[in-house]
Amino acid sequence: MTLADRLARPDLADLPPVDLAGAPAPGTIRLDANENPFEPLAGKGDINRYPEPQPAALRQRMADLYGVDAARLWVSRGSDDAIDLLSRAFLVPGQDRILVVEPTFSAYAQFARIQGAQVSSVRMDDDFTFDADAVLAAAKDGAAPKLLFVCTPNNPTATPVDPDDVRRLCRELPDTLVVADEAYGEFTDTPSLAPETGAIENLVVLRTLSKAYGLAGARIGCAIASPDIIGWLARVSPPYPLPGPSIDAALTALAPERMPVHMDRVRRLVADRDRLAQQFRDVGEVEALYAGGNYLFLVVADPADLARRLAAAGVKVRFRPKAAPGGVRITVGTPAENRAMLAVFGIAEERPAGRRAAVTRDTAETRIAVEIDLDTPEPRRVIDTGIGFFDHMLDQVAAHGGFGLTLSCTGDTHIDAHHSVEDVALALGSALDKALGDRAGIGRFGFALPMDETQADVRVDLSGRPYSRFEGEFSADKVGDLPTEMVPHVFRSLADSMRAAIHVRVDGENDHHKVEAAFKAFGRALRQGLSTGASGGIPSTKGSL
Ligand SMILES: *Cc1c(COP(=O)(O)O)cnc(C)c1O
Repeated sequence: MTLADRLARPDLADLPPVDLAGAPAPGTIRLDANENPFEPLAGKGDINRYPEPQPAALRQRMADLYGVDAARLWVSRGSDDAIDLLSRAFLVPGQDRILVVEPTFSAYAQFARIQGAQVSSVRMDDDFTFDADAVLAAAKDGAAPKLLFVCTPNNPTATPVDPDDVRRLCRELPDTLVVADEAYGEFTDTPSLAPETGAIENLVVLRTLSKAYGLAGARIGCAIASPDIIGWLARVSPPYPLPGPSIDAALTALAPERMPVHMDRVRRLVADRDRLAQQFRDVGEVEALYAGGNYLFLVVADPADLARRLAAAGVKVRFRPKAAPGGVRITVGTPAENRAMLAVFGIAEERPAGRRAAVTRDTAETRIAVEIDLDTPEPRRVIDTGIGFFDHMLDQVAAHGGFGLTLSCTGDTHIDAHHSVEDVALALGSALDKALGDRAGIGRFGFALPMDETQADVRVDLSGRPYSRFEGEFSADKVGDLPTEMVPHVFRSLADSMRAAIHVRVDGENDHHKVEAAFKAFGRALRQGLSTGASGGIPSTKGSL
């Protein structure tokens, strides 16, 4: 008998698992599910059809993401749903119990109670550290809990849990499934326990796309465990738990070219979290502060009053007087949101809120994700278009332009560079256009740059009206892997999508120099044009651009 069979509800042993047959072969006449055969009048794709019970492509993608075999991963309707499935499969009503380490995420106790199970709890000490000895003592006091929930880092107290503690709990509690909830794993340096579910039979790891991947509304998460445990989740799952549009959204969000943007955002949220923590430490009101995940837990003398004052300023935070009475949990928001929240503490944020924009662009030929940040004090550049020399040129534009750029493209470069170069230029231009917003404070500028024998002269007018002029000849077909005929094209696409006049004149002997000088000078002209320094107003006598 496997561990899962031994711990699961005996009354469900003969329940068949949900049918995991994949999508039917294309061309199959689908008369099996009483669906409506006609083209849907809403949404994208075939939402008139039932979705796959376990979408094979998404299951594989998430398995790759978390470094496990797909047979060990169950895609759930958020990780909340995975907690519910575990409760249904393993907790015998009126008999079993779970163990939680409080204060913690309330769903563990809630689903256990709905299932008719008991909830035992250990309270963390006053400074919210995780005491594995205390947890073990509570687990061994009475019948073994069927499920022990360890939230790492803990919500709301941000307490990190040492993976060695989790391993030890697994080892010393062989009749308990230890559930490590890694909802905020992306925001920590602690390595995930997911790959260890292969070796540790009673370990279950929960992950979610709600936090780091920005998909809370799609409701996609997963449980990772031995195939035996996964088999039990399949027994208690509803037949079609995951909405088709959510499956599509998750696959799109996790596409390779989106990943650099996700990683950059996570890095940024962590940096902002730590900066906020520092700002709070500098004011008297906060007694203790715990930072983890994408949130802060502030222990204050009167948390109810603080929550009220924040609410009065239009800022909603989490205050649970019963579950976590001592403090409020505050999510890290956008710079503008953080600024509004800090104002309630009397903290004046000096950094500008910043002009930023993200653009995604998917066609049959290319898939592109761009994020730019025009005002970041530490501009980072992560650029991968699949065309090395073009990456180098865009890097020059961002470096000389003085802005942060994360840009990634998966394109049909096996055919040629054409589609990728053009679409990247369009997407980058759109992102600049979007970040510029009402174009308040920006200007019209030019820059001339010599490079050995070459000279490039670029003038940019961020006028809101597209116009492009390119004077220059190339004798080589390519520089690096970038076709030279695409160079004027890039500036035209940028002019169109960023709604700017861009005039480029370049002459010299060496094509490499000419291309590079043109991009560098463009970056420099942009830097001047994007600057909000001088007047702060809209740089046109018409008052709008
Ligand atoms: C947010 C959160 C989840 C729930 O995630 P969903 O996938 O959105 O259901 C699970 N566990 C913890 C600790 C959380 O904070």
